Formats: sequence, structure tokens, C-alpha cells
Amino acid sequence: MSVYRKNFSVNEWQRHFIPFEEDAAGRSWLMPYLFFQGKRDAPKVTLIAAIHGDELNGVRMLHELMSVLEERQSAIEGSLCIVPIANLMGYANHSRYLPDRRDLNRMFPGVEDGSEGTRLAHFIWENFIEDADCIIDVHSGSYNRWNYPHLRGNMKDGAMLRWASRLNHAIILSSAGVVGSLRKEAGKCEKRVFLLEAGEAGRFEKQILRMGLITLLELLIALDVVREETFTDILSPSQIVRDAGEIPRGFYRKGIWQRAKHAGLFIPEVQPGDKVVENQRLGFITDLFGEKRAEILSAKTGLILGMHLHPQVVPGRALFHTAYDFHELT
Ligand SMILES: [Zn+2]
Repeated sequence: MSVYRKNFSVNEWQRHFIPFEEDAAGRSWLMPYLFFQGKRDAPKVTLIAAIHGDELNGVRMLHELMSVLEERQSAIEGSLCIVPIANLMGYANHSRYLPDRRDLNRMFPGVEDGSEGTRLAHFIWENFIEDADCIIDVHSGSYNRWNYPHLRGNMKDGAMLRWASRLNHAIILSSAGVVGSLRKEAGKCEKRVFLLEAGEAGRFEKQILRMGLITLLELLIALDVVREETFTDILSPSQIVRDAGEIPRGFYRKGIWQRAKHAGLFIPEVQPGDKVVENQRLGFITDLFGEKRAEILSAKTGLILGMHLHPQVVPGRALFHTAYDFHELT
């Protein structure tokens, strides 16, 4: 049953576990969630992390968000459901994937009596998604990729663009997600989903966590779930620059991955968050003697959103993800 239909006390944080399925030893998995029942007619927002079990930035960001919201409970208007670890099996195995090596984020909305993954997707959908108005899904770069903190969401959707326009600090890549992802499938059901990408899997960075927390708070304010005036200390422009540096603002309509054409050692000369111009050298690949074998020139003028981290590359390896076709958020 959806957590939004449970009879929780109003204006009180609840910490609960829901049992589902079993591990190899026959023990129930216990899904943790935190719930705050706000005013009945106010927005209902689910925040979820670690759909990919090794993407831990989101787990920590939701813990920090929880701590901030618990201190300022009177600022909360709507109902909030926080699911810090969606893929508990992957999390327990330090793995992006489920035990059957499938990707949970290709299985939504799930099947009640389906495969391991589709059962978990159905469980998440039924309990946390189907009654939410809006979903915030937190991820990190996968497999040796580092993502500059940014939101993904469909800016062709008028309501999402209006919410995005209320954000003071955010870079957004407009996209609707792939089939089977929580974002795509919830979007089909008229739910608005923002996906926050930040940093890399399996590693915390203080500045990334702070940027994520700022974005999550600004989103909750934009969605009218919490009142802005209570967070002016954390969200004042000067405090944000001290904590997280300059965060650009705007959205990009398109993104492109540039891939290695040769094997060798990859030497980047820019990093995620850097603005680049078309034909600018982004880095190069050396041969086995250390000689320069190939230069990587930017295909577009835009912003580097993601970058491959491991120095050894082979042809086809995705090296740089560049957002382009910039628009101001008005
Ligand atoms: Zn992910």
C-alpha cells in the first residue's frame, strides 16, 4: 500500500522499514523510508536514492537533507517520503546492479510476480511512487565517470520548466529518460520527475554533497513543499559560494558523448563544470611510448557535464559528455 495512504500523524517524522521478498538465506529485505505527513492538499514528493546500489552520494545527500528538515520541521508544508537506499541488494553487494546483474532502472513500473528486479521495481512503485505528485531521483556517474552536479528533467513540460525557473542555482539537461527508467515511466503517468546527477559512484566529495543539498532544498522550495524563508542561512548567495563555489544557472537542450577513437592513456585537459567552445582541445590519448596519438576536440560549444576517469581507454569508451544548446532560466 502506498505510504501516502497510511494514517500517519500529521507534522511528525516517521522512520519505518517495509519487508519485501527474501535474500538467499530466507531473510526478508527491509526497505527503510522516512515519511512526513504534511497538509493533505499540499504537494506530495518522494525523494529516492541508490536505485543503482553503488551510487552513494544520493544516500548521503538524503541523510543530510533529512537532518536539515528535522531541525526546521515547521517549514514543511507538503508530504515528504525519503527512500535513501532503493536497491538494497546492490547496496549490500557494493554493486550498481541487482544480484541477477540486471539494472533496476530499466524495470519500472515493475511486475508484481515478475523477475527479481521487476518485483523490486513494482514494490518501489506501489509504496513510494504511485501516489506522489513529484519524484526526485538521485544518481551519480557510473563506471569510472564523474558528473558535474546537474538536474535532468523534461524542459518541454511547462510545469517542470516553471519549477526549474524558480531555482537560483542549477544546471539542467533537458531529457525525458530511457524506457524502463523511473523517470521515463513515472513521466508517462503525469508525474514530474527530476533526476539529480552528482559526482561518481562509491566516493564522497564534500563540495558535491553540498551542491546536491542546495539543489534538493531549492527544488523542494520550488515545488512548494517547504517554505523558503526558513532556509535563508543555507541558501544565501554568499553562503553558497563559500560552501559550494559558483554554481551556474540555466538549461541545455542537448547533450553529446564523445568517444575514444584509439586505445591508450587518456589525458584530460578540462574537467566537468568547465565551459568549452567548439574545436577546443579537451584532452589527448597517448600510445605505449607516451607519444601523443590523438587529440580530442570539442564537438560543441557548451558545458562539460561528465568525464571518464580511468586513464586506460579503448576505442568506443565514452570520454566527455558535453551539454549544448544553452537557454537561460527566466
Ligand atoms: Zn544511477
